[in-house]
Amino acid sequence: MISKVLIANRGEIALRIILACKELGLKTVAVHSMADRDALHVRYADDDVCIGPAASKQSYLNMSSIISAAEITGADAIHPGYGFLAENATFAEIVGECQITFIGPSPDAIRRMGDKAKARETAKNAGVPILPGSDGPLRSIDEAREVAAAIGFPVILKASAGGGGRGMRICADETELQSAYETARNEAERAFGVADVYLEKYLERPRHIEIQVFGDTHGRIVALGERDCSIQRRHQKLIEESPSPAITEEIRKKMSAAAIQLCEAVGYVNAGTIEFLFQDGEFYFMEMNTRIQVEHPVTEEVTGIDLVKEQIRVAAGDRLSVPHGDFRLRGHAMEFRINAEDPVTFAPHPGKIKEFHLPGGPGVRVDTAAYRDYVIPPHYDSLIAKLVVKGKDRMETLARARRALEQFIVEGVKTSIPLHRQIVANEKFINGDFSTKFMETFLRG
Ligand code: ADP
Repeated sequence: MISKVLIANRGEIALRIILACKELGLKTVAVHSMADRDALHVRYADDDVCIGPAASKQSYLNMSSIISAAEITGADAIHPGYGFLAENATFAEIVGECQITFIGPSPDAIRRMGDKAKARETAKNAGVPILPGSDGPLRSIDEAREVAAAIGFPVILKASAGGGGRGMRICADETELQSAYETARNEAERAFGVADVYLEKYLERPRHIEIQVFGDTHGRIVALGERDCSIQRRHQKLIEESPSPAITEEIRKKMSAAAIQLCEAVGYVNAGTIEFLFQDGEFYFMEMNTRIQVEHPVTEEVTGIDLVKEQIRVAAGDRLSVPHGDFRLRGHAMEFRINAEDPVTFAPHPGKIKEFHLPGGPGVRVDTAAYRDYVIPPHYDSLIAKLVVKGKDRMETLARARRALEQFIVEGVKTSIPLHRQIVANEKFINGDFSTKFMETFLRG
């Protein structure tokens, strides 16, 4: 049983979780930094606790403040959202030790899948295809050279503890590998506190396709279709859609089976995402995210399942509500990430929102915690809204996306809306003909 949920997060995802709790008849506790006093998640929660100064390290990443907030307010569950402490196994463990339900997977599953080099190994042992590369972290530059020579250039160096599109280096030849190796290790150490890097084959024009998975505590694991997240800038997602215009039902089934196989191998419970790269009809495991994803609404729209409510129900020990038997995606959905940033340089653009008009009408959903006169603080992620559009097929979805992006007005700060307007008018995008390299070519114009 869960009766009161503390949300250890901010912004649109904190609000999204509060809405799910309200529908389930649960009480909510918002935590916030001193910079977030006027945030909507604080206003909508039943209780709120200030957990520290603006800097994330002292607030949203401050485990003891968050646990104290749960204890003071009598919260019996914590939802970590995404980012911040969502994939921190120690946090999940401490929450459990305090007799509070962690709404997410077990600390063990987070640990096993959180280290990307280890996760590759786990996937390989579970019979899931991976890209050729090193066995675990590289021990020396000599080993890096040997592995690269065996699999052939280009290769990509990745931080084992990496995330958020950071800590990756593409190497076209041995000279580049030689100079990138130490830099990559230093960067990884600085950004993630662990210097370990591993290496894998770099694909030239893959699609990023991920499978939404869900496990319950009764041993059932389901795959809820895919999301195509190939439209990225700096290895970070900008647009996601489901179904993917690139895969057949046969590939979908194979990818889903592989994802389930991997979840079974780690006894996975709650929501998770298995990310794959797909090229020339083959797919390869890339990493697993052991949390709810930013782009989860896309799956909600084509499956009709409220993933956040499902997370809470499953954490309380309920069985998955997904019906048994053949599973089909209905219609088509796309998500556009609206970031407060310069659409050309991608530099964050915090500040006061002077005008804020949301699109509406059939098939349009906006997940946001922003409002007119809201001041976007400079301390956090630049995501201010997610425009999610649904239609009976991809063409209808695109038409709705076009008019919703026209209707969406944000003034006072620069946003990615103008960029999205251009992308939805692009012929290759309209035809579904793109890889993760789309934005590179698109920006070169
Ligand atoms: P993060 O955990 O930082 O999000 P990922 O491992 O998920 O990093 O990779 C992010 C993106 O980087 C992918 O979606 C893809 O565009 C690119 N990428 C990662 N590995 C490869 C690879 N081996 N070949 C080509 N592109 C890759």
